[in-house]
Amino acid sequence: MTTNSDCLFCGIVTGRIPADLVARGERAVAFRDINPQAPTHVLVVPADHYENAAELAAADPEMLAEVFTVADDVARAEGLTESGYRGVLNTGAGVGQSVFHAHLHVLGGRPMGWPPG
Ligand code: C5P
Repeated sequence: MTTNSDCLFCGIVTGRIPADLVARGERAVAFRDINPQAPTHVLVVPADHYENAAELAAADPEMLAEVFTVADDVARAEGLTESGYRGVLNTGAGVGQSVFHAHLHVLGGRPMGWPPG
């Protein structure tokens, strides 16, 4: 496993930092966002440290696929099959990325507008 000792989400993956875990795949972990923006707001992170989803895709596409599989499992478990859910991958501080370990936001449980803010 590739971890970065300074990375918050690496700490959650390894269990060093507590989080409200909702799912753990072989190579992806899902936990509730501490500042939820919707009734369901879960973050799905790869077990290994990559700065963003594009880096993960280039290095380990299977791990990226697992992130999406776990996200869909979480959405089903949260009862979002009918209503749907939104997946968000912020890439770069300019669009609001604040944690530089790739993560997929899974949001659902309320109406959502488009375009996003
Ligand atoms: O896409 P972005 O990098 O902004 O998302 C980081 C997310 O991590 C935020 O939604 C923030 O609330 C969440 N977070 C968290 N637990 C922490 C620190 C940040 O769930 N300890």
